[in-house]
Amino acid sequence: MDIILYTIIFLIGIFFGSFYTLAIYRIPKRQDIIKKRSYCPNCNHALGTLDLIPVFSYLFLGAKCRYCKQKIKPRYFIIEILSGFVFVALAYLMDISVYNLSIQNVVPYIFFSLYITFIFIMSGIDKENRKIEKSVNMFAIIVSLAYIIYLWILENANIYRYVIYIVCYILILLLDTITLRKCAKNKYVNGILIIIIVMAIFTGEYVTINTIILTLLAISIYLLLQKIRMKRNKSKKTDKILSKDITIGYYLGISNIIFLLFVLTCSKFLIL
Ligand SMILES: [Zn+2]
Repeated sequence: MDIILYTIIFLIGIFFGSFYTLAIYRIPKRQDIIKKRSYCPNCNHALGTLDLIPVFSYLFLGAKCRYCKQKIKPRYFIIEILSGFVFVALAYLMDISVYNLSIQNVVPYIFFSLYITFIFIMSGIDKENRKIEKSVNMFAIIVSLAYIIYLWILENANIYRYVIYIVCYILILLLDTITLRKCAKNKYVNGILIIIIVMAIFTGEYVTINTIILTLLAISIYLLLQKIRMKRNKSKKTDKILSKDITIGYYLGISNIIFLLFVLTCSKFLIL
């Protein structure tokens, strides 16, 4: 029976993934993400229902636009599949099963799906544009506050643990609006700080600290590879590794999902 449930969750996951690719493409361009019909970014042809089925359209159309034959980036396909996989993995690790569906496990799962939505869109936009979108962060703040209220009222969680995060939110948002408005660099840093607080609320301090360590490791490897490439090419253009090219949000997002799934897997199988 669970196979059917997980298949449905996987399909929901790839539809969400399809929405992520759209949001990653449109939000930085300030385009509507809900009403506007999907179109091919190359020939601007509006896409039909058959072109919009996640994963399957990509496979049946042979990774090409039906109208202009422009190649579709594998990124779309990868994000859709990955999101389906993460949705199923989370459901499995959070003990979602047809036999024990209840508010106590379904509501947290829905909150985590929204959290994953935030991580995917934030990471994708950062990777493409090296930018942390404020609207995406505001979405995460609202979801995390709703999650805190849920934990407080229905799960009788210790609210004091979360008060400090709420205070941090307020401080960073104040800093962002009052003093640092004009400086793009500070804006990026503020965005990263918000992301770290959202992570701490949803995945806990232990996962968050390890996420940061994993991110630093990933960035070091990236810098090292850049240096090796620089030496090989000896081109002057890449003489300086620009710190403004490092997509911290993207690395944080990937590290966080990997470490979260790792910790959930450990706790599920080591306790049993
Ligand atoms: Zn096209």
